[in-house]
Amino acid sequence: MSKARVVADGPLGQTVLDLFDDRVKVLPWSVAINGSNETVDGIYTYGHPHLNGEMLDRLPGVKVISNYGVGVDHIHVRDAAARGIPVGNTPGILDGATADMGFTLLLATARRLIEGDHYARSDEFTTYDPGYMLGREVHGSTIGIVGMGRIGEQIAKRASGFDMQVLYHNRHRKPTAEKSLGARYVSFDALLRASDYVVLTVPLTDETRGLIGANEFAKMKPTSILINIARGPVVDTVALTEALQTRQIYAAGLDVTDPEPLPRNHPLLTMPNLTIAPHLGSATEQTRRKMAEISVENLFRGLRGEALLHQVNI
Ligand code: NAP
Repeated sequence: MSKARVVADGPLGQTVLDLFDDRVKVLPWSVAINGSNETVDGIYTYGHPHLNGEMLDRLPGVKVISNYGVGVDHIHVRDAAARGIPVGNTPGILDGATADMGFTLLLATARRLIEGDHYARSDEFTTYDPGYMLGREVHGSTIGIVGMGRIGEQIAKRASGFDMQVLYHNRHRKPTAEKSLGARYVSFDALLRASDYVVLTVPLTDETRGLIGANEFAKMKPTSILINIARGPVVDTVALTEALQTRQIYAAGLDVTDPEPLPRNHPLLTMPNLTIAPHLGSATEQTRRKMAEISVENLFRGLRGEALLHQVNI
């Protein structure tokens, strides 16, 4: 059987290449941008390359788009559906790792861990001082989860271990989460006003782009901390920079930014009240292995015309 021809945004990780097991001829992303005279059977997205209908029209043989990851805001899923092309993703298996990262950022930001780390290594640290680097309490505080989905529920579980009061906001109430996690449904406005920690776990959509901007920072407590493990554009970067500069909020912890990465001279990168990670939400050896397995399985199923393990609905 001839090899499937698959366009991918490289370089691909070795685990993915091993799982392809020489059954795939990998074509460069430039083929998606410029088209090809030869048939392309599938598309595999590993990073977050932009993919829309125009590109799909240049590749009429494509039977499947498989994404390594759960968030598909970079793929125009409606354009794919309009052309009968299923889009696969990897939900469910990365919730724990991503929530762990959210809590890592929350704890590190509240307790000023990165500042403390730098200080502890520096020549300036000569004597212990009970007055330096006081942070904010985590246990017993109030957390507001915006997007009580798969990852949001894992955040709520961890929060209850820290005796936190859990508030959440979604477009729809989730009675199961309320019952099993003791989470309380509140309006978006009430969540912003009451939370010590606002944690973002919504997908990036037209509705959630810029969800947190100047108006929202104005409603948050001056002692509150924003944690974004969703997607960078859910937060307005200009408004965030101002809110941190003016101490309108206490601090922020970001796994994702807009743009990503931030320009190297961006003022956010100089702020001590920002903890930042380079999009590490699902970045554990175990979870990334599962993401590779599911996304490669989705690809092969789609190439064979079979139902995917996980298909994104519009
Ligand atoms: P999910 O299970 O679909 O949960 C998303 C939640 O957001 C749902 O409960 C949904 O509830 C809510 N929501 C959607 N639109 C909303 C809106 N306009 N206002 C308020 N709530 C809204 O998704 P998930 O698997 O938890 O993943 C969430 C996102 O996390 C992904 O899309 C991805 O972008 C991001 N992510 C980031 C990383 C990372 O590395 N940092 C890793 C994995 C995922 P309703 O439908 O009721 O509104």
